[in-house]
Amino acid sequence: MLPTRTYSLAFLLLLISCTSPQTNELDTARLIEDLKYLSSDKLEGRLTGTEGNRLAREFLIDRFKEEGAGEFQGSYTHEFMFPVSEEEEALGINVIGQLEGKSDSVILITAHFDHLGIRDGETYNGADDNASGTAALLALIDYFKNVETKHTLVFAALDKEEGGLRGARALAEDSVFLQKVKLNVNMDMISQNSENEIYAAGTYHYPYLKPILEGVETGDVNLLFGHDSPDLGYNDWTFASDHGPFHAKGIPFIYFGVEDHEHYHKASDEFETIPQEFYKKTTRLITKSIVALDNAL
Ligand SMILES: [Zn+2]
Repeated sequence: MLPTRTYSLAFLLLLISCTSPQTNELDTARLIEDLKYLSSDKLEGRLTGTEGNRLAREFLIDRFKEEGAGEFQGSYTHEFMFPVSEEEEALGINVIGQLEGKSDSVILITAHFDHLGIRDGETYNGADDNASGTAALLALIDYFKNVETKHTLVFAALDKEEGGLRGARALAEDSVFLQKVKLNVNMDMISQNSENEIYAAGTYHYPYLKPILEGVETGDVNLLFGHDSPDLGYNDWTFASDHGPFHAKGIPFIYFGVEDHEHYHKASDEFETIPQEFYKKTTRLITKSIVALDNAL
């Protein structure tokens, strides 16, 4: 230890930099590991109601607990019924947890974990759609558990998005909860793009959110805006994923997603086809975006 009076300016600066709060790092190794498991053959494409979907759900509950997310309304599971024919209904189960912030005003972060299952003997593992968003959801819990946020963060891994946004629609029926939700950040297909591009859709409807996102350091990923205006027809993503039912109830949203690609809804949407570096970058970008949105709102 140096005597006090000989502290140089350089040493003091070093001391300050060492004692200031550590920058929280995204655990990208775990992100890739979670993506690999969620898109593995073992989970049989995670179709709602199947054994593979149940295994995915159990895994998510374990990971939510491991990362320190608290229960949502007294449980990690949120059950709902959805119609499969005119007479029949089936059960879907969302996995939801939360990290409390300085207020009970909520930023709701969503990603659907279900996919298409097995069709004609082929397993649709849905690595980009949407093991990518689901694994990112887990990485976000890990990141934010050590960060003080203004808002309470609710993390929802939604079931039965494929074929009707059913898990999101069920959660959006909870009007008491919805009163607390200031923003929905939805992630669906965030890992597959050859141009280093990802979209943040929603600012057409909620223009005040755009400058917040424009201020985010995006690295060498191109964060694009669009896919959210009604004159785009099929290319309007306003109701294309789980943010839709929340938007329909007046909840502002930002939807992070890539353009459709050659593996979209194909059996080739596999872990092996995911460009891992791009995926790590988009997850970092989304993390920074949530930090900025939490601060600004
Ligand atoms: Zn999807």
